[in-house]
Amino acid sequence: MRIAILTLTGQRDKCIDNILADKLRKYGHEVTVRSYIYAGMETVCYEKPDVIIHPMVGGQYKYDFVKQCKEWGIEVIVRRGEAGMCREQFDALDDNRRSLTLGNWDYSPYVDLELVWGLGFANIIHKHGHMQGKNLRSCGAFAFDPYFLPEYKKDDTDRKKTILFATGFSTCDCRSNYCELGIAEDSDYHEEIYAIHRAARDTWISSIKKLVLEHGDQWDFELKVRPGEMPDEYIKELGSIVKIHPQMISSSEVLKHVDVLVHSGSTLAIEAHLLNIPSFDFCNVNPDPLLSMVSPLTYTHEGLEFFLKKVETGLSNINYTVFHKLQDYLYGSIDGKACERAADYIDNHLQMNDIKTNIPNTWPKVVRYHDDPENVHLEKQEGDSRWACICCRTVYWATAGGVTRCPYCGMQIHMTVGDRPQGVLK
Ligand SMILES: [Zn+2]
Repeated sequence: MRIAILTLTGQRDKCIDNILADKLRKYGHEVTVRSYIYAGMETVCYEKPDVIIHPMVGGQYKYDFVKQCKEWGIEVIVRRGEAGMCREQFDALDDNRRSLTLGNWDYSPYVDLELVWGLGFANIIHKHGHMQGKNLRSCGAFAFDPYFLPEYKKDDTDRKKTILFATGFSTCDCRSNYCELGIAEDSDYHEEIYAIHRAARDTWISSIKKLVLEHGDQWDFELKVRPGEMPDEYIKELGSIVKIHPQMISSSEVLKHVDVLVHSGSTLAIEAHLLNIPSFDFCNVNPDPLLSMVSPLTYTHEGLEFFLKKVETGLSNINYTVFHKLQDYLYGSIDGKACERAADYIDNHLQMNDIKTNIPNTWPKVVRYHDDPENVHLEKQEGDSRWACICCRTVYWATAGGVTRCPYCGMQIHMTVGDRPQGVLK
């Protein structure tokens, strides 16, 4: 079968999707891995896959994408890039927030199989979400597979010890085209999260400045910006004093050369643990009660400085009770075999299904989302700049700068005025 894996972020997902592709090729399938946002539509129309493996159906663009693929007879398999949440955290949410986690729209008519990490979250989807248990498979903790590859090696050359700051405050950017949960920008929930992320980012920036000034002789400092988060503010404030990794680099690459990790409630702490790197949670923004307990936690610069003074490198400081609970209740097994199990489930599923596709050579261009006709125009008006959609490649017209929604595919497009007047899409 021809399988197209559509990968959401170039950092973590691509690395996992490449492992999954290798496992699927062992079953004799022809597999390609393509960028979902930048090449999703072209991949479907040019390569005409029998099967697509698609990210979580979390927004309108994704919903319409799987619906269209299903109408053409393509087998649609979803692989969730995130673990979801534990039962305890899920039960504490109101209905609105639950629906954001599970997917706002009922995508079950257009999705044949959904691959998730842990059994706990599979059960939550089965009970409260759109997919039934028979179409759900729990595969284990996808994100950690790269650390178990035989060729994966940590850099053990003699060098100055390095502290990596891994950010996680994407909500301050209001990048609505990324937000995993698809939170509407005008909701109370968004405002609440925005304030938390804003305060945490400010604390981080001022603390990193102080640490570099006072401890730059002992440590090298590096910064990794979370996928989907804008690097601009970090580059402006810290670019001259710390090394900022390029956006597209995967965490498994960055962690190879790191001795201490500072995060804000991230699965990176688990990745660090697998490499015996001690980690600290500074200004936790993760609402998950277990994940927020995985590393020693502080909300102040003084607290972080104290941790760093006492840290023993080469030794994980993970909370083992939490680590095991996380596997039981959230991630599923952390054993490097999630992609292997996923490939087995996919192959089994495909053997039981007869797939006949009828895919046109171009993705239909229909004006479906022209919800701001005052500002967004299909034909050029006086004072308009040219906007080109990164997803469907269609050109439309609006005032330069800010955010618009593509009238053809619904993707929110950001344009920064200044660097290129004719429109750079960010
Ligand atoms: Zn578009």
